[in-house]
Amino acid sequence: MDFALSEEQTRIRNMCRQFTEGEIAPRADEMERADDYPYHIMDRMADLGMMGIPFHEEYGGGGGDWVSMNLCIEEVSKGDAGLGIMLDITALCTHELEVFGTEEQKRRWLPPLARGEKIGSFGLTEPHAGSDAASISCTATLDADEWVINGRKQFITNIGLGNSSIIVIAAVSGMNQQGKSITNTFVIPKGIPGFIVGRNYDKIGLRLCATNELAFKDCRLPRDYLLGEVGRGLDQHLAMAQTGRICVAACSVGLAQACLDASLSYAKERIQFGRPIIQFEGVSFKLADMAVAIEAARLMYLKAAWLKDSGLPYRFEASAAKVYASEMVEKVASDAVQIHGGYGYMSDYAVSRYYRQAKVMQIALGTSEMQRIVITRNLGSN
Ligand SMILES: Cc1cc2nc3c(=O)[nH]c(=O)nc-3n(C[C@H](O)[C@H](O)[C@H](O)COP(=O)(O)OP(=O)(O)OC[C@H]3O[C@@H](n4cnc5c(N)ncnc54)[C@H](O)[C@@H]3O)c2cc1C
Repeated sequence: MDFALSEEQTRIRNMCRQFTEGEIAPRADEMERADDYPYHIMDRMADLGMMGIPFHEEYGGGGGDWVSMNLCIEEVSKGDAGLGIMLDITALCTHELEVFGTEEQKRRWLPPLARGEKIGSFGLTEPHAGSDAASISCTATLDADEWVINGRKQFITNIGLGNSSIIVIAAVSGMNQQGKSITNTFVIPKGIPGFIVGRNYDKIGLRLCATNELAFKDCRLPRDYLLGEVGRGLDQHLAMAQTGRICVAACSVGLAQACLDASLSYAKERIQFGRPIIQFEGVSFKLADMAVAIEAARLMYLKAAWLKDSGLPYRFEASAAKVYASEMVEKVASDAVQIHGGYGYMSDYAVSRYYRQAKVMQIALGTSEMQRIVITRNLGSN
């Protein structure tokens, strides 16, 4: 067993760390208040190759692996978890194209995403279908040589960004003999007739990442915009979500590390009863517990990413990493505010932003409850 990162993985992690420390972390609070998305930061991330790390060089990617992609997400999320989630969802959209696309689809859609010139989205959730993904009702009907898409998706990350280009969605194209929905996935370019980006949600956190409603009204697609195998759309989409869960775990670890770093500095400087508060066990043990939990979550997401890179099953490990890391970060963020006392509740201090960001990790890309269902189903199989 070798826990050491390769030279290339170390290079990518250090490059992302340096970028985050220099360009994201010092301005994240200010960017959040600016009420616009940080396109200049996304452009810099694209220049550094962050959006394309695990994708094939032939299609504009970096030819790296998912360990590196997740190390990048961890580092970026130390600066701002919203940008970490932006990366996660773009990577999912790009990955679905890479895995299921025809050569023609890959050549057409993949390079702008892998090079970070465009941002991608992933559409599964609907107003009446969240955890119960099999109950989606968005329809895709074949009319002569075109697919006609109708329905709504909600909570769609990235689609409201000015630089987003496409979404991959799952939709229902009929019923089989057992009365079950036949689902397909489609690539839909943003802005074609009938593609309606709706309201931008006013979220409590992750404000640097866009989340919007999306509707399709008689949205017509050429027949060859269907992605992957006919009738396997939901399975394809859910397989991608499993990869995305590793990324949410990495994002949670980055955010938790930011909480620990801020709390450690504060605890060394804040004087009460004539001493820095780090000298009180009530504070220092919290810091120790944070460090232990972060390390465990980091090892969990790295193992899941390594399994994926090795072509081995990773369903259990991805869900386990997500549930552990997302619940860990909520506790770590709460303790970070506690260590900062009253100051921690004020928006002048970064920990208040971290606290607002932490909760969503247990919800996006499948709730903790749904992860526990996946984990239970996989018990005994590894
Ligand atoms: C910021 C943000 C970004 C998002 N981005 C995207 C995106 O880009 N694309 C996308 O498709 N979706 C996205 N989502 C949606 C997200 O994946 C869903 O919110 C999530 O899957 C939960 O669905 P729901 O909100 O409908 O909750 P529901 O499914 O209604 O669940 C409500 C509660 O009931 C619990 N519950 C439901 N069923 C069970 C069960 N069988 N057993 C036990 N408990 C259960 C849930 O765990 C939860 O606690 C995003 C969400 C957020 C908040």
